[in-house]
Amino acid sequence: MAVECIFCRIINKEIPSNPFKETDEIIVIKDINPKAPIHYLIIPKKHIQDIQSFESHDSDLAGKLLLAARDLSQTLPGSSDFKLVVNSGKQAGQCVFHVHLHFLAGKKFSEI
Ligand code: AMP
Ligand code: ZN
Repeated sequence: MAVECIFCRIINKEIPSNPFKETDEIIVIKDINPKAPIHYLIIPKKHIQDIQSFESHDSDLAGKLLLAARDLSQTLPGSSDFKLVVNSGKQAGQCVFHVHLHFLAGKKFSEI
């Protein structure tokens, strides 16, 4: 059965991407429609719809998503300061229902 989730299809290599970083648990890709000079998506390989769907046993994975953001900040020139955004739920603006962190950098951001 074809997987409908676009991020699962990227993770399964059904859609080509050029991952910036990939581990057993996480993939980091450039956002196709960047909202800042530096815009990456930090995506767990496990299909979890949104933060509301995290379970207690996902705590290690949740922490690794934040550590991936730290690693990106240390690796990408111009991203020592960065903004993390998670749209969690339709009302919050989520379009792809596979949880992901937006890593945004390279410009001055206004406060929330
Ligand atoms: P969200 O609104 O938080 O669900 O954000 C989904 C993000 O995924 C948007 O910023 C899109 O530009 C991005 N996106 C959608 N399809 C792709 C793709 N094939 N490769 C990279 N980024 C994508
Ligand atoms: Zn998925």
